[in-house]
Amino acid sequence: MTEDCIFCRIARGELGTPFVAESEHNVAFRDLAPQAPIHVLVVPRRHMTALQDAVPGHADVVADALTLATEVARQAGLLESGYRVITNDGPDAGQTVPHLHFHVLGGATLQAGLG
Ligand code: 5GP
Ligand code: ZN
Repeated sequence: MTEDCIFCRIARGELGTPFVAESEHNVAFRDLAPQAPIHVLVVPRRHMTALQDAVPGHADVVADALTLATEVARQAGLLESGYRVITNDGPDAGQTVPHLHFHVLGGATLQAGLG
């Protein structure tokens, strides 16, 4: 299953996607279709379909992902201006890639509202 997963393949380095940051459990790379001046995805190295598959068994991976998301924001100079970290879980949320990922968005005033 994970052999065909695009984010598993990226995390394994198979597609040559440059990482802007990485940690023990996660990698971070730029989104293919950015929705803000800074749009980075933080992706667990281990395949998990969505957030509900990660907790509670892999809370360490989630904590590591949020820590890396903050590191990405720091590297991008967003700590003062602000940034948003979101994950989509399932169809109503608009998840399109079934491998857990956190979007890190910033570099401009983001749209108000989350729903
Ligand atoms: P979702 O809609 O599942 O929350 O977010 C998936 C995100 O992955 C989208 O923003 C999309 O642009 C991005 N994406 C999909 N395929 C690729 C890819 O092959 N490389 C990169 N860098 N981003 C991708
Ligand atoms: Zn995967």
